[in-house]
Amino acid sequence: MSLIKGNTGEWEMVIGLEVHAQVNSNSKLFSGASTHFGAEPNTQVSLVDAAMPGMLPVLNEFCVEQAVRTGLALKAQINLKSIFDRKNYFYPDLPQGYQISQFSHPIIGKGKIILDMPGGEKREIGITRLHLEQDAGKSLHDQSPSSTFIDLNRSGIALMEIVSEPDLRTAEEAGEYMKKMRQILRYIGTCDGDMEKGSMRCDANVSVRKPGGKLGTRCEIKNLNSIKNIIKAIEYEAARQVEIIEGGGEIRQETRLFDPDKNETRTMRSKEDAHDYRYFPDPDLYPLVLTQEFVDKIKKTLPELPDEKRERYVREMKLSEYDAAVLTAEKETTEYFEEVAKKTDPKLAANWITAELFGRLNKAGLGIAQSPVSAANTSSLVSMIQDNTISGKIAKQVFDIMFETGDDPKTIVKNHGLEQVTDTGAIEKIVDEVLAANPDKVAEYKGGKDKLFGFFVGQVMKISGGKVNPAMVNDLLKKKL
Ligand code: ADP
Ligand code: MG
Repeated sequence: MSLIKGNTGEWEMVIGLEVHAQVNSNSKLFSGASTHFGAEPNTQVSLVDAAMPGMLPVLNEFCVEQAVRTGLALKAQINLKSIFDRKNYFYPDLPQGYQISQFSHPIIGKGKIILDMPGGEKREIGITRLHLEQDAGKSLHDQSPSSTFIDLNRSGIALMEIVSEPDLRTAEEAGEYMKKMRQILRYIGTCDGDMEKGSMRCDANVSVRKPGGKLGTRCEIKNLNSIKNIIKAIEYEAARQVEIIEGGGEIRQETRLFDPDKNETRTMRSKEDAHDYRYFPDPDLYPLVLTQEFVDKIKKTLPELPDEKRERYVREMKLSEYDAAVLTAEKETTEYFEEVAKKTDPKLAANWITAELFGRLNKAGLGIAQSPVSAANTSSLVSMIQDNTISGKIAKQVFDIMFETGDDPKTIVKNHGLEQVTDTGAIEKIVDEVLAANPDKVAEYKGGKDKLFGFFVGQVMKISGGKVNPAMVNDLLKKKL
């Protein structure tokens, strides 16, 4: 654990994160309006989203399912009864004058998430709750020098707010927490995790204390939109707090904003307490009551989660911890790998993907989703190595062509005449040729210069263009020498 060194000794950071994850839903939480990203302003706004008088919200069942699905993936308590509250505040992009959220009775209670720190350490971080709420609209300040415009397309889109316990102790852990959260949400498909588009955002609560001492006063940094900024903001904020306390000052609880250009946080407003919002149950909405069958049905459709998958790769497929982590990092990678490994040796498949495929993808600046080589074609290439149709060396040449053309390996091998020669007679002919051409080396070898064996193998390989089976070459050479 890394501590901050101050003038009065060491300080420990305490961090709790509130993640806002946009539900992967085509329509909004309480209306049928579209959630499609990037539409013209105010083209995806129903009367409910614009808060026209007399409109009634109707709960979107799909969004409820996604919240439950997320709760299950976070090994959390699913509350069969939850309540929608109005959180009252005024803001120009909030036409209702309140946000429908959940306060004292959220749909999901306590859960947990396990972090795999780069050093190999595992850290369990508590999840306090997950609740459903509406997003607000957006104020556009850059469209006119004298006015602010309001775009309500985002108004009413479903968010899952996922609150962690103050269990994180370093900025790096906060970064790992975000990565793990995004990985899980993407695996189960409840949020696309795209921080650039704002579909996953984070507020970071930060305080400092003497190691193991009592909790300090926290500041909340709002709306962090990349993992890099989360880490930088937390580091800056913790150092700022240490400096204030050591200078004899006190931390005021407040909401702050991070400025990535200046790399600092600034006061946005002093902290409003929950009671200022005058939360109360929304009279337009019944309490949300779920049946256990509803929850169980969702549970049955949950895919294998990243932690379980990684463990299985190590246990059953005997992959290294490292390969298992790399291959399960993204859902697309896992799917690709599993398709290749379905019909081939998993270890060989893993090597081929992590070394050969990733190497070429990185060089070309492509992600696995844009791979010019399909999983089916990689699979047949690996099969061809396994059954000795081609050598590993030739396979790399074939893979280059596959990567360029997208063709399947069988066609390439056939068209280029690259099949491995396994015909004993043909190999014997080359071996004899090599031995006849190098009588002095043969004599030296027989005189005890064992190292020359590699020379003979190399000559045979060279003459055959790398197409002969190396094991057979070894056997034949041993016999003849
Ligand atoms: P609010 O709703 O006002 O933001 P919460 O009680 O829901 O307050 O807490 C918000 C977040 O603050 C949680 O993630 C929690 O873990 C974190 N938190 C609470 N106390 C501290 C503290 N002393 N230092 C750092 N984080 C804290
Ligand atoms: Mg908060």
